Amino acid sequence: MREKFVQLVDKAATNHELTKDELVYVLQPETDAEKNLLFKKADEVRKKYCGEGVHLRGIVEFSNICERNCLYCGLRKDNHKLNRYRIPDDEIFETAQKAASLGYKTIVLQSGEDSWYTTERLCEIIRKIKKHLDVAVTLCIGERSYEEYKELKNAGADRYLLKHETANQTLYKRLHPGMSFNERLKRLNWLKEIGFQVGSGNIIGLPYQTIEDLADDILLMKKINVDMAGIGPFIPHKATPIGNFPAGTLDLTLRVVACARLLMPDIHLPATTAVGTIDPYGREKALKCGANVVMPNITPQKYRKDYEIYPNKICIGEKPEHCRGCIQKRIESIGRFVAEGYGHRIRSSLQG
Ligand code: SAH
Ligand code: SF4
Repeated sequence: MREKFVQLVDKAATNHELTKDELVYVLQPETDAEKNLLFKKADEVRKKYCGEGVHLRGIVEFSNICERNCLYCGLRKDNHKLNRYRIPDDEIFETAQKAASLGYKTIVLQSGEDSWYTTERLCEIIRKIKKHLDVAVTLCIGERSYEEYKELKNAGADRYLLKHETANQTLYKRLHPGMSFNERLKRLNWLKEIGFQVGSGNIIGLPYQTIEDLADDILLMKKINVDMAGIGPFIPHKATPIGNFPAGTLDLTLRVVACARLLMPDIHLPATTAVGTIDPYGREKALKCGANVVMPNITPQKYRKDYEIYPNKICIGEKPEHCRGCIQKRIESIGRFVAEGYGHRIRSSLQG
C-alpha cells in the first residue's frame, strides 16, 4: 500500500478533515488492499459514532407528476410515456398508518414537484400523521418558497431531503433546465434556518462528472453541515435525453459513501435504493462501508411500477409488509440490527 494513502485515510478517520486534493487522492485507491482499508476505516467510524443499529425510513411515493425536467429522471415532465398518478390524501395517511403498524418510526413523503399538492393540503396530511401516529415525518418534494417550508415545519414535519445532485455548477445547469444551483443551495440553508433536520446528496457517475466534482460534493455537504447525505449511482433511463450514458458504478459509489463517512462521522448515510438496484447486495455492501440507514418502499403496490425515476427499481412487485421483513433479514445477515427510536439527527442526541 502507498504510505501516503494509509496516512491520509488515518488522518481522515481521526480528524475528519481532508483538503480537496487529499480527498481526490483517497477517493482513488489503486489496489484492493487500499480499497479495503478505506472501507474498513469508514466502517469503524460508523460504528463509533452511529453504533450497530440501522435506521429504517419508510418511503411513500405519493405522486409521480413532476413540473421539472431534470435530464436524468424518468419522472421529468417531458416523459409522456409514463402513466401518471396521485395518491389521494386519505390513502397517503392510510399508507403511513400501515407503515407505523409495521414498526416504521419515520415516514418519508416523496414526490415529483407537483404543485397540485398545495402546501395547505400537505400540511393537513402532515398534521393528521403527527396527531395519530408515533412517527417522524420527512419531506422530499423539491423546491418551494421560504414561507411554504415554514408552514410545513409548523405543521409538524421533522426533516427535509433536497439533494444538491452535483456541486459542479456547469453540470448542474446542463442537467436541470430552468433551475439554478444557487437557488438549490439557498433552499438548503433556509431549511436549516427553519429548523428542519436537513438531508442533501448527490448522484454518482453522471455524464461528464469528474472525481474532483465528487470531492466537491462531499466537501459541500460537510460545509452545509447536513444531517443526512443520500449518495446513489446514476441509472440511465431510456425515456430521458441522457438515457444512453453509462450507469454509475457500485465501486465508485461505495468509495464516495466511505469518504463521506470519514469526513462526516455523525451524519445519517443511507444505503440507497439505487445502490440496491445496480447490485443485488448493494445495500449490504454500503452498510459495510459507512452507511447506517435504509429506506424501504412503503408505496401501495399498485402505484410502485409507475414511480420510475430510473428503470428496474427493486421491490416494485412487493407489498410493504414483505419489504419490511426482507430488509430486516438483510440487516441481520451482516450482523447488524434494526434500530429502535425515530433516528433523529445524531449530532443533537450527542449534544443531549
Ligand atoms: N422531486 C424531488 C424528489 C423525487 S426525486 C426532488 O427532485 O428532490 C428523488 C431523487 O431521485 C433525486 O434527488 C435524484 O437524485 C434521484 N434520481 C432521479 N433520477 C435518477 C436516476 N436516473 N438515477 C439515479 N438517481 C436519480
Ligand atoms: Fe422531478 Fe425530482 Fe425527477 Fe427532477 S429529480 S424530474 S424534480 S422528480
